[in-house]
Amino acid sequence: MPIDSFRPQSWNGIDDIVIVGGGLAGLFCALKLAPRPVTILAAAPIGQGASSAWAQGGIAAAMSPGDTFEKHVADTLEAGAGIVDEKMARFMVSEGPARIHDLLEYGVPFDRDLEGKLLLSREAAHSERRIVRVKGDMAGKAIMEALISAVRKTPSIRVLEGYVVEELVREGRFISGVVARPDAGQSKNRVHFPARAVVLCSGGVGHLYAVTTNPWEACGQGVGMAARAGAIIADPEFVQFHPTAINIGRDPAPLATEALRGDGAHLVNADGRRFMLDIHEDGELAPRDIVSRGVFAEVQAGRGAFLDCTKAVGAHFPDMFPTVYASCIAAGIDPITQPIPVVPAVHYHMGGVLTDAEGRTSIDGLWAAGEVTSTGVHGANRLASNSLLEAVVFAARIAENIKGMLPEPKINDWGKNAGESDDLVTIEDSPALKRLRRVMSDHVGVIRSRDGLATAIREIAALERENSRMRFHNIVTTAKLIATGAYLREESRGGHFRSDFTEQKADWKHRTFLTLADAEKVAADLSETAVA
Ligand SMILES: Cc1cc2nc3c(=O)[nH]c(=O)nc-3n(C[C@H](O)[C@H](O)[C@H](O)COP(=O)(O)OP(=O)(O)OC[C@H]3O[C@@H](n4cnc5c(N)ncnc54)[C@H](O)[C@@H]3O)c2cc1C
Repeated sequence: MPIDSFRPQSWNGIDDIVIVGGGLAGLFCALKLAPRPVTILAAAPIGQGASSAWAQGGIAAAMSPGDTFEKHVADTLEAGAGIVDEKMARFMVSEGPARIHDLLEYGVPFDRDLEGKLLLSREAAHSERRIVRVKGDMAGKAIMEALISAVRKTPSIRVLEGYVVEELVREGRFISGVVARPDAGQSKNRVHFPARAVVLCSGGVGHLYAVTTNPWEACGQGVGMAARAGAIIADPEFVQFHPTAINIGRDPAPLATEALRGDGAHLVNADGRRFMLDIHEDGELAPRDIVSRGVFAEVQAGRGAFLDCTKAVGAHFPDMFPTVYASCIAAGIDPITQPIPVVPAVHYHMGGVLTDAEGRTSIDGLWAAGEVTSTGVHGANRLASNSLLEAVVFAARIAENIKGMLPEPKINDWGKNAGESDDLVTIEDSPALKRLRRVMSDHVGVIRSRDGLATAIREIAALERENSRMRFHNIVTTAKLIATGAYLREESRGGHFRSDFTEQKADWKHRTFLTLADAEKVAADLSETAVA
């Protein structure tokens, strides 16, 4: 039956593509698959519970007159500290401008100059002005609003909101569907969605840590699910901390965008000293991991860290950075006249489910896009604003790949009841998750060591033994992979810093590839050492 003849008044029988997650990667992939019927299962209403809606800086794309793909690739390689997959970075960078044009067509109101040309701004570690923004710091919100509106107008896309996917169903070599729990994961009923293609777009891992800028839904369920189904996970140890989360005790922590430092704001301690000048020649615009460790050191030493925007931005703050301004005012800080207290917070996961250039994972029938993946474009450290770019470029590639591999939709018996289970977990309130977040922040955080990581791996194993619930197992599996990757990598590189191996090592100049079985072997060896 030709695809165009599908008119999904009734969805019965056409769920052969299921997308897990309704952030930028998931929505963009669904739009690119249209008119092919697709079901999006999203843990929260789309537009909520997704990092995409919170992005402040924008999207990097080499589009200004002085810029070239070569320069953008070079900056990406430099930030990634020697282990970026250059071929993948080239795909991402060279397809960036076309994807920006797609977003414009979907109605994203990117900032323009008086002549109507796209306004491009600069961010840390970019050698050119190449960040496409919306009203200063509103890029994520505006992009998501435009895509949600496009999705709602596309009859081939069905969105099921509040469906928390708990399991990828594997039959032999293939992923053959997913099992989800409706009502924001609170229903006793589990629903089975058979699918010939599952696209995992479930976002990041921030909520595995005590301090993060990510929404609650970003707690690593996708990586855990994929690893439990047998997928290879790449570079899990590389977690990026944002140096300037606003330190006002909120969870998640609001962000003071890097663009503020790009516009000249200074980092100072309580004595007013610009400490980054002692650490790196680029000062506040040094790579994120270096700025994070600088801020972490000041906070640990009790001197505090503050972002002083009073001179660089001053009275323009409310117009230029309305989101940051609102967060500060709500906490009783006026950033026009006062420095903003800041702390490093988990912001982005460079590691994730290993994918190739078409977004295919190591298991047939499973594709992945966005932050849940490790495509190799970020290496050990993501260049600012490359993640939204990665999400749209590879989501589009996946759509092309699926359309080529599965040209016709196939009738499926969709939405079967998968039985009741009391296996519920309210993630936000779980004492086990609170303990896990503490362990991850204390031992798998900005600065790591062999002993601390061994402690973390043992604690994670204990938490896993004590908690049998499916969703918690997905979460704890991701934590185990991150801690194991960090334990095995006996060097410091990019977002991974070991106090016992402070230098980069030539024999570690490669990516990490781990299966769950590999991580479990390390945990078993460590538990034997503890017993001995
Ligand atoms: C505060 C902040 C600012 C940022 N600023 C920028 C920036 O300026 N530029 C840039 O390039 N990047 C930025 N990033 C990073 C970027 O926003 C993310 O990497 C990107 O949006 C990830 O998109 P995604 O679609 O992969 O995931 P998300 O947008 O996080 O979407 C994930 C989706 O999966 C759903 N989900 C999760 N688990 C499940 C499950 N088990 N079942 C069903 N659904 C599930 C979620 O509810 C959500 O719908 C920022 C991140 C944050 C937190």
